[in-house]
Amino acid sequence: MAARRNRRNGGKKSVLLSTVVPMYNEEGGIDLFFERLEPVLDKITKDYEIICIDDGSTDATLDELLEHRERNPRIKIINLSRNFGKDVALSAGLDYATGQAVVPLDADLQDPPELIAEMMDKWREGYEVVYARRSDRKSDSVSKRVTAGWFYRVHNAIADVSIPDNVGDFRLIDQRVNIALQNLPERTRFMKGLFAWVGFKQASVEYVRESRAYGETKWHFWKLWQFALDGITGSTTFPLRVWTYIGILVSLTAFFVSTLLIVRVFIYGVDVPGYASLMVAVLFLGGINILATGIIGEYIGRIFTEVRHRPLYLVRDTYGLEK
Ligand code: UDP
Ligand code: MG
Repeated sequence: MAARRNRRNGGKKSVLLSTVVPMYNEEGGIDLFFERLEPVLDKITKDYEIICIDDGSTDATLDELLEHRERNPRIKIINLSRNFGKDVALSAGLDYATGQAVVPLDADLQDPPELIAEMMDKWREGYEVVYARRSDRKSDSVSKRVTAGWFYRVHNAIADVSIPDNVGDFRLIDQRVNIALQNLPERTRFMKGLFAWVGFKQASVEYVRESRAYGETKWHFWKLWQFALDGITGSTTFPLRVWTYIGILVSLTAFFVSTLLIVRVFIYGVDVPGYASLMVAVLFLGGINILATGIIGEYIGRIFTEVRHRPLYLVRDTYGLEK
C-alpha cells in the first residue's frame, strides 16, 4: 500500500480512495457486498481502503468482517462500543478515512458500487463533492416516498442551506470536505444537512436505487420522524423564530376583537352568553402555547446534548487503522 504521508490530516498515511461503510447486523450480506465492491475498486485503483464500522451489531457482523480482513488487509474495521445509529457510525468512519477521495456507502448494495468509477471521473475533473442522485424512488414504499417528499419541501422552505432532493449519503467527497466535516463540532449528526452546509464545488451523477439486496431496513416510522426533527432543528432556527410573528398576529387580532367587544358592550350592554367564543379562544391560545413550548423544548433538548460535550461515539477496537 502506498505510504504517502499527508500534510492535511496530521501526517497519517493516506490512500487514494476510502470507502466508508456503516454496518448494523448485516451478517447475511457481507460476502455479497465485498464480492461486488472489491472488483469495482480494484479496477479504479489498488490504492484503496474499505473502512467498515460495526455499529454495535448483535450478530456475527464483526466476525465476518475479521475473516474478510484476513483475506484483504485493505478492509479495515472500527468496532463501536454500542449501536450509535447510522449517522454517527458514518462520522466515525469519516474520522478515520485517510483517502484523498472518500465515498460513504450502505452495506446493503442499495448504493451501486459501480457508480464510484463515474464519481472518481468527476472528482478528477476538479469537483470536490459528487453526489449520487436517485433518478427515481421506485424501490421505496409509497408512504416513504410521500413523507420524504414532504420532508424535503418543509426543510428546504425554512432551512438556511437547502439539501438536494433524492440524494442520500452516497456520494464522493474530497479530503478537504472530509476535514471540514470533522471540524463541525455538533453532536446531532444529520449528515445530509452537514454535507450541504460545508458547500464546496459540487456535481452529481444519476442512478436508479435498487431494493435492499438482503435483510431489511432498520428504519421505522418513529425513527424517521426523529430523524426529520433532527434534520430541521439541526439546519434552522426558523421554528423558534416564527412564534414572534404568530404572537404578533394573535395579539393584533386579540386587540381588534377586544376593541370590538368593548364597543359592543357600550352600545348593546353586557352580553352574558358567550361561552362558545370564550372556549374557542382559550382552547386555541392554550393549544398554540403548548405547541410553541414544545418546539422550544426540542431545541433546548438539543442544546443540552451539545453542552454535555460527550464524545460522539466510543470505539471498542480498531483493526488496521491508526488515530
Ligand atoms: N446502519 C447502521 N446503524 C444503524 C442502522 C443502520 O450502521 O443503527 C447501516 C446499515 O447497516 C446500512 C446503512 O446504515 O449499511 C443503511 O441502513 P438501512 O439499509 O437499514 O437504511 P435504508 O436504506 O432503509 O435507509
Ligand atoms: Mg438500505
